[in-house]
Amino acid sequence: MVIQAVVAGINGSIRVMDCEMDLPGPGEVRLRLEACGICHTDLLAIDGELGTPKPMIAGHEGVGVIEALGEGCDGFAMGDRVLTSYAACRECPSCRGGAPAYCRGAFALNFLGRRVNGDGPVRVDGRPVTSQFFGQSSFATHTVVAARNLVPLPPDIPAALAAPMACGVQTGMSTVMDVLDVQPGERLAVFGCGAVGLAAVMAGVLRGCERIVAVDLRADRLALAAELGATETVQVGVDTGADPWADVAQVDAAVDAVGTAAVMEKAFGLLDRRGRLACVGVGPVGDRARIDARELVFSGRSIRGSIEGDADPREFVPRMIDHWRAGELPLEKLVETYPLSQAARALQALRAGDVIKPVLQMNPENGDE
Ligand SMILES: [Zn+2]
Ligand SMILES: [Zn+2]
Repeated sequence: MVIQAVVAGINGSIRVMDCEMDLPGPGEVRLRLEACGICHTDLLAIDGELGTPKPMIAGHEGVGVIEALGEGCDGFAMGDRVLTSYAACRECPSCRGGAPAYCRGAFALNFLGRRVNGDGPVRVDGRPVTSQFFGQSSFATHTVVAARNLVPLPPDIPAALAAPMACGVQTGMSTVMDVLDVQPGERLAVFGCGAVGLAAVMAGVLRGCERIVAVDLRADRLALAAELGATETVQVGVDTGADPWADVAQVDAAVDAVGTAAVMEKAFGLLDRRGRLACVGVGPVGDRARIDARELVFSGRSIRGSIEGDADPREFVPRMIDHWRAGELPLEKLVETYPLSQAARALQALRAGDVIKPVLQMNPENGDE
């Protein structure tokens, strides 16, 4: 069948094109997509920073409805509404140990965009295009995706709000709730107020933090962080002559949603005794943080990295939906929707930092057989 997809070309072009899609194979379904959020990881892949072969179709926060089933998709049926999170094999030691975010096959399945048998289900003008980025490549009207990477989605949540739960919001919330296990009355700092950082702020509110310090370069993002529940904001990168950290007291837990060595060092320095830092941002290759070895030991602090907040989407997405239903996750404040035809503009809005969470919405009439 012919679908429409946002194809990132070798020369850096972004074009919405007609593509040929195969039927789903064993263990796979075809989704008619409703929406897909845009993450910084999509920009990294399009920029060639993840080794994803081009031409490629990015997109890893898909929401859609099953309209074709391959063999062996037990538990799923035609018409089911689902969310497609990151890809994991569900068979390796990490996956079997309850940590699919650390799947041994994660690099090939997610960044290289490969199926287990190596090829992809989509072609442009008869030539293959990377169409399994994060096991899905959801900047398209349709995707073929492994059933093992699907999470059932109820009908009441709008697609544009569910989509960011596949990656960005999941990462921020799960980092606070599970990786750091922030407790009521604790003091939390969040570095970087994009979708991940703002989700971390919302989770800090949910956990009853006494203080939530939000840190960013931009005043508009800090204003949004405050609206979402941050009790203090620190604008860095502007030369006012005053030290923006002068009045900021130490914290018990911190999230680094930026990923540079400089931010990691600053966040570590803000931790009180026995404080915990979780680093989830993906920064430049080769960036090395300097941590004072004695300080680390004597203060009992800890630093750890996390992918997707360690979350297993099958377990964590239903928890996020419960919080959304309770009115505790005002994701509409983060999301701005664009039609699929405006994908290049949506990508640019994220790159410029003008939109927290752009979400592509697919026209269901387009691309159907
Ligand atoms: Zn695995
Ligand atoms: Zn992502």
